Amino acid sequence: MKITGFLIVEMGFDRERFLGDVNEGLLCCICRDVLEDPVQAPCEHAYCRQCIEGWLVNETRCPEDRKNLSLSSLKPLFRYMKNDLDNLQIRCINVNLGCSHICSLEFLASHESECQLASVECPNDNCHAKVQRNDLADHMASCEFRVRECPKGCGLLLLERTDKDHNCIAELKTAIEILRSETSCKIEEQKREMELRLNTQRGHMVQKESFMQAQVDELKSEVSKLSQKIKLLMELEVKRREDTERLELEKRELMELLRRNQTDGSTSASVGKRPVIKKVTML
Ligand SMILES: [Zn+2]
Ligand SMILES: [Zn+2]
Ligand SMILES: [Zn+2]
Ligand SMILES: [Zn+2]
Ligand SMILES: [Zn+2]
Repeated sequence: MKITGFLIVEMGFDRERFLGDVNEGLLCCICRDVLEDPVQAPCEHAYCRQCIEGWLVNETRCPEDRKNLSLSSLKPLFRYMKNDLDNLQIRCINVNLGCSHICSLEFLASHESECQLASVECPNDNCHAKVQRNDLADHMASCEFRVRECPKGCGLLLLERTDKDHNCIAELKTAIEILRSETSCKIEEQKREMELRLNTQRGHMVQKESFMQAQVDELKSEVSKLSQKIKLLMELEVKRREDTERLELEKRELMELLRRNQTDGSTSASVGKRPVIKKVTML
């Protein structure tokens, strides 16, 4: 482990875990342990990926020879070095827990992911017990945090340790009560929402109604104006007809007078009497 700046990086394999000596070239230039997930710089120095990534947060040069270095210039390890690394014989990380397994570094990860002596945490909620992987099945079978469906058929999942106090009817009653209160809450909410919506719609309707009422009133006043005009026109028409009749009458009277004058003139032509013409009243 090496502390770089504020980053604590735990990379590299402890040299003591290996059988025999390890070539200096397979050590990380930063943590000085055996390379883990190795990368190589153009200057051919090699580091664990996490070690060099942590280093380059604050630095721009190789920690070994101060040559310029960036994340994008990092490359995989030379093949011959990678082969050497893969073939190193290493002990399982759980050696202190009793695992004596030794394998090539290449296969270490696959062994450790299923090492029966590894310490693992019980997967049950709230149980933080740590047991060795080969004891997990036994632990799970008796873990007080294991759950199972109620054997009496209420369908609830029960914690093993509260199993004895479980009363199907009481629990179901509580469940129903909760459900009921949730439902009534939901109904109340929907009711409020509906009311709100109705109120808005009502407001719109009232607005629309008053608008339409105004239109109706306007139309009514127009109709009454029009009917007044019609009445006036009809009166005028009657008057016009009366005038026409009267004029017709006067015309006829005048014609009569003219005719009479003409007959009088032919009998006494010397008389310079002017015919009396009624003045025509104009419309
Ligand atoms: Zn390292
Ligand atoms: Zn270098
Ligand atoms: Zn092991
Ligand atoms: Zn447990
Ligand atoms: Zn039950």
